Amino acid sequence: MDPVKEAERIKDQIIAWRRDFHMWPELKYEEERTSKIVEEHLREWGYRIKRVGTGIIADIGEGEKTIALRADMDALPVQEENDVPYKSRVPGKMHACGHDAHTAMLLGAGKIIAEHIDEFNGRVRLVFQPAEEGGNGALKMIEGGALEGVNAIFGFHVWMDLPSGVIGIREGPFLAGAGFFEAKIIGKGGHGASPHETVDPIPIASEIVLALQTVVSRNVDPKETAVVSVTAINGGTTFNVIPEEVSLKGTFRFYKNEVGDLLKKRIKEIAEGVSSAHGAKAEVSVQDLTPPTINDPDMAQFAREVAEKYGLRHGEVPPTMGAEDFAYYLQRVPGAFLALGIRNEEKGIVYPHHHPKFDVDEDVLHLGTAMEVALAREFLR
Ligand SMILES: [Zn+2]
Ligand SMILES: [Zn+2]
Repeated sequence: MDPVKEAERIKDQIIAWRRDFHMWPELKYEEERTSKIVEEHLREWGYRIKRVGTGIIADIGEGEKTIALRADMDALPVQEENDVPYKSRVPGKMHACGHDAHTAMLLGAGKIIAEHIDEFNGRVRLVFQPAEEGGNGALKMIEGGALEGVNAIFGFHVWMDLPSGVIGIREGPFLAGAGFFEAKIIGKGGHGASPHETVDPIPIASEIVLALQTVVSRNVDPKETAVVSVTAINGGTTFNVIPEEVSLKGTFRFYKNEVGDLLKKRIKEIAEGVSSAHGAKAEVSVQDLTPPTINDPDMAQFAREVAEKYGLRHGEVPPTMGAEDFAYYLQRVPGAFLALGIRNEEKGIVYPHHHPKFDVDEDVLHLGTAMEVALAREFLR
């Protein structure tokens, strides 16, 4: 069996699935229709199914080793602006990250693997997870047993920053760890004409915003990577009243946990310290969202060798400060998160992930399928 030829053979089917999912997007933990379609196909092909809410764990084959392949199924609250026949039929919802493509690619791999299961010396587990977009669906799947008995795990993300058809492989940190913070600066309100009778939280919040810029520039080792962004600032309603309080929100990103810990510590210290210097109080909450996605070097190398062996175009993919809940699987089981380039300037497929005009170059989706099948085949030799 040649995974590339097999995937080419069902190329149109993969595209048809993707278009169907694209037309009927479902938000996190609401993937009822999508998971029903996936489950029906997998049952028909002989998979043993375990349901975890709207998620699916599907096993086929027997043997000592188990490889897991994962796709995410959720869409985003975005109004699609593409004028295509398969445009989202659901107002305000769109597959703007490409999870429709991930689901279709893995479904294609599931079909090919089932048809040739006697050529796999072990067990293949397909994990179709809900709620990647800020829902930590990966954790729900892990609690549901997705990693039990698994020796290695791989996942794909379609990737706008890579030319169409190129498989991006990277060892070590690929996506960042992410967290968020909220700070409420509580001063003392009053008349805008009598600031001396107030503790004005607005200049205090402003000072905090500026001081937070020094966390990355002055506290983090210049050889490391980090982001601190204040993304919301709210306070006051009118021109002549000094408000009682101002609230700030933001996010921080990192590759190494020690850097993440430093960011958290400094954000809290700065918000509290600047506030108290001016006689205000700060209520600060700093929380983790997703750990960094760190590919196992051996598994990344294995993926490179597989791509090489089957003549699949591949290259290095630069790291990004975006985050991905695939990180949770990689914390527990060796594996790698791979990228499939979908950028095609000629077709106008250039808009970034989460953009209302995001689209994928469908003509290369079968290459993702081929790689998934090839990874399983080579891992279960
Ligand atoms: Zn996304
Ligand atoms: Zn995504």
